[in-house]
Amino acid sequence: MKAKRLWIGMLGLLMCFLLCGCNVLNDIFGSDRYDNGYYDNGYYDDGYYDNGYYDDGYQPYNKSTTASNLISHYIDVGQGDCEFIEFPDGQTMLIDAGPAESGSKIVRYIRNLGYDYIDYIIATHPHADHIGGMKQVIDAFDFGTVYMPNAETNTSTYEKLLTTIKNKNKKIKTAKAKTKIGNLNNSSYITVETLAPNGNEYESLNDYSVVLKITYGKVRLLYMGDAETISEDEILKKNYDVSADVIKVGHHGSATSSSQKFVNRVKAQYAIFSLGADNDYHHPHTQVVNRWKKAGAQILRTDEYGTMVLTTDGNTFDIDTEKE
Ligand SMILES: [Zn+2]
Repeated sequence: MKAKRLWIGMLGLLMCFLLCGCNVLNDIFGSDRYDNGYYDNGYYDDGYYDNGYYDDGYQPYNKSTTASNLISHYIDVGQGDCEFIEFPDGQTMLIDAGPAESGSKIVRYIRNLGYDYIDYIIATHPHADHIGGMKQVIDAFDFGTVYMPNAETNTSTYEKLLTTIKNKNKKIKTAKAKTKIGNLNNSSYITVETLAPNGNEYESLNDYSVVLKITYGKVRLLYMGDAETISEDEILKKNYDVSADVIKVGHHGSATSSSQKFVNRVKAQYAIFSLGADNDYHHPHTQVVNRWKKAGAQILRTDEYGTMVLTTDGNTFDIDTEKE
């Protein structure tokens, strides 16, 4: 009799458990809502937070939008240099601003891209074919920080530029090798490094040139300013990694730059020469062009192709040219 009552009791408990136990267990350990749905798999694990946003890369990096591209514009300013870079997080950088007569073109170009603010302005060195148009740019835009090497000259172009920057209540930060540029290095997916100048005293202003390397994912871009072989040798001596997919060749393709050793170490797929047609300096020098070609680079000249626009998602890149 006792055993029978116990059996019925256990059966009752089992029935009770079957009827309402599932919900109780679900409430305790979770099922639809917590385990499979919104919180664990959908939102936190697979989606926005873990894989897309925080782990893989740059903070605002989102592979699904065009905003994840880095775009480097090599603006045709005739005999001179000017590059404008749009970073994936919306920050911008201007490297040089061509000769004075190209100032208005550069201002228009950047405005047409939709910007009224430039985060970083880099004057690689104070020669007129690099800083000539910079006064106009600085007058036209609000901007973050100006970087220059510790090189002075007494030209009126340079002095007017300094006055313009001062009048805007901005200070100039000195750039040399290993200078940190703003907050552009906040993930492993993008790095902006300065590789030169490595010294304090050079005979030629060109060797004071700030040399920049931008790496976005697998794509590496090198900007040489007018750095000559003295600076190239110092960069190699420091063992900085100069390998790049695309190089803005030093000093408009002059024979004073692009030593064989340097060209071999860069191993560029594309060598961009920024210069004016029929310039007084006979840039680019034939042996330099041939040196880059022999090392496997395709030659792109602003006097032939006009402005060039490189777009990369960090894996591959395209270069569009203004002229065919
Ligand atoms: Zn130059």
